[in-house]
Amino acid sequence: MTALNETHAPTLKSFVVSANDGITDFPIQNLPFAVFRRAGSDEPFRGGVAIGDQIVDLARLHRARLLSDVAAAACEAATATTLNALMAHGNAASTALRLALSRLLRVGSAHQAEMLSCFVAQSDAEYALPAHIGDYTDFYTSIHHATNIGRQFRPDNPLLPNYKWVPIGYHGRASSIAISGQSFPRPVGQLMPPGAEAPTLAPCKRMDFELEMGIFVGSGNALGTRIGIDDAQSHVFGLCLLNDWSARDIQGWEYQPLGPFLSKNFASTISPWIVTLEALAPYRQRFTRASDDPQPLPYLDSAALRSEGAFDIQLEVLIETALMREQRSAPHRICLTSYRHAYWTVSQLVTHHTVNGCNLQPGDLLGTGTLSGPTASEAGALIELTQGGKLPITLPNGESRAFLADGDSITLRAHCEKSGAARIGFGTCTGTVLPALPL
Ligand code: CA
Repeated sequence: MTALNETHAPTLKSFVVSANDGITDFPIQNLPFAVFRRAGSDEPFRGGVAIGDQIVDLARLHRARLLSDVAAAACEAATATTLNALMAHGNAASTALRLALSRLLRVGSAHQAEMLSCFVAQSDAEYALPAHIGDYTDFYTSIHHATNIGRQFRPDNPLLPNYKWVPIGYHGRASSIAISGQSFPRPVGQLMPPGAEAPTLAPCKRMDFELEMGIFVGSGNALGTRIGIDDAQSHVFGLCLLNDWSARDIQGWEYQPLGPFLSKNFASTISPWIVTLEALAPYRQRFTRASDDPQPLPYLDSAALRSEGAFDIQLEVLIETALMREQRSAPHRICLTSYRHAYWTVSQLVTHHTVNGCNLQPGDLLGTGTLSGPTASEAGALIELTQGGKLPITLPNGESRAFLADGDSITLRAHCEKSGAARIGFGTCTGTVLPALPL
């Protein structure tokens, strides 16, 4: 697990003034990675690191020759159009690059002028997927989400008996994962309304979002080998935001017996910025399991996991309808929760995924599953917030939503904050539902 070091010092300030305002997601203690270029240009995409409202262009930084050794090699790997090569280098590489960047960006840096020539304003940038995602696996790690959903289908027996023993997941589809700003037509599929005798092909009527975190795999493991629980986080490059858009009515008809299929794979949106586990180190928490619950099997448990295996990350979901956009009213928050409520941790997902010898590869993406917290307002999907559509949400302008309407945008945000550490954030993850294509 990552120890605190000089890059986490809350007193550190950058010569980039916007990094020091206390409310930015990107102070000098964060330094998350993305892939970007100037918006509307035909420049190649390349790696970048956020500082305040700027991006350090890692291709320019590589050419400036300010780095040496491991940091230089990491920076060179990040000049590619995806971060897969940097991820494959392992976390020692991104750690060396982080330390070098932290020193170069501080107040009093000897290379301030050269660094200024490496900046692109975030307001001038467009982003691409940070990695070629070879495989995408989605888990189901919130026991509150699993219980809330289970209750709608099985009121007497909401939580299936395997839940507290095995991290539940399924293999998703990588091709339809896109970067924040994604818009997509409402999916069409087979719907089987209650009481109907046969399904019809129609646009989804129960369009939903899912508030999740995405886990980018760094260095992988060879096929036939396992990643042990105390080694798991060294195989994780970092975390992003993930909206696993879900068509609940398509899902309800198709999901048995093999699980979600076309109800999930039409679009998934991630945030451009990946926050490293090193940046998240001040926000580690104990992993606990209630004494009256089954304790994890030994391969999913360890003293280090118990002492600091979880993360406290504040999560929120905001909605902006087409009418709100027209009225220029601010997006409205419909959920506020924390990643600390997850039943299974990042390490447990990585270790469980490889326990049978399955190989993870650099740039693979694992979804946490919907991160609902224990109370009703902490639910990370409309199907829970509206109790299956029965209790629509009323928005400040008088509109109401049981599920999403055409033109609705959903934005996910996340940040970490506590006394004695710098506040860091994840930026935003936004996507918009468009009308269905004509049948
Ligand atoms: Ca999901």
